[in-house]
Amino acid sequence: MKKVRMTVCRFCGGTQFVTAMQTGYGALESTERFLGISKVYHTICRDCGSIIRSYVQNPEKLLKKKDRRKEDEA
Ligand SMILES: [Zn+2]
Repeated sequence: MKKVRMTVCRFCGGTQFVTAMQTGYGALESTERFLGISKVYHTICRDCGSIIRSYVQNPEKLLKKKDRRKEDEA
């Protein structure tokens, strides 16, 4: 997975961010049955509270084993 660097909030120009994990049923589930579930993380601007980015930690888990990239497999 590529690393994303957050530098400036595009809404207020803030430069401090908080990462939070969505709890409960907010997990992202693959459209294929019996495949993985990935927890959703949010990067939030500390100054204005905007959710800058939402992402899952391991997107490969949402694919079938044969479709996964080898290097990303945990
Ligand atoms: Zn902001």
